[in-house]
Amino acid sequence: MSHESEKAVIVEFVLMADGRYDIHQVWTSEPGRKSYSMYDVSWTKRDRRYSFHKSGGGPFPATVSGIYWTSDPALVIEEESSWSLDGDPAMGERNKTRRLTDLPIDVKGCGDVLEWLYNYHHSAQTVYCDICVDSIPDDDLCAHIWWCDEGGDFQGVGGESISPCDCEDCVKGKAWRENAMSAIS
Ligand SMILES: [Zn+2]
Ligand SMILES: [Zn+2]
Repeated sequence: MSHESEKAVIVEFVLMADGRYDIHQVWTSEPGRKSYSMYDVSWTKRDRRYSFHKSGGGPFPATVSGIYWTSDPALVIEEESSWSLDGDPAMGERNKTRRLTDLPIDVKGCGDVLEWLYNYHHSAQTVYCDICVDSIPDDDLCAHIWWCDEGGDFQGVGGESISPCDCEDCVKGKAWRENAMSAIS
């Protein structure tokens, strides 16, 4: 299905320490429809743009936590913000669940948020790289992340979750990563 007739009806933000509102999730729907699609959105520092991809959907009302804007409060059930469980008390304090009556300045005047993402940002899934400390689009990976066909997963990410096998990509990628790690430590 094309996104053309969909509009952003709920946008969840993360308020960063520097006062920026990062888009975190977008719920979209078509006029009169009782269900939504959901998009995950991540800011990629390297590329200075968002990467976004459709991650699911369901019937309204949508369960929303953290800071959000909506075109219609009846679409939302509020939940306690999960950022308070993040281990960063300041982050939890800043991101208590609440509704913004207006879009934050960064996206205000951009029109429909979904269309704005499609027009000016990057449609891709992201993988978090703990060396770059960044969300990296899966179609333009950094040197520390590689795809392992044998394991059917990305490797090189998230420190402890890394389990490279003996395939060619893992052997090559592991050498890259170890080089990069010794360069920053
Ligand atoms: Zn990286
Ligand atoms: Zn492998």
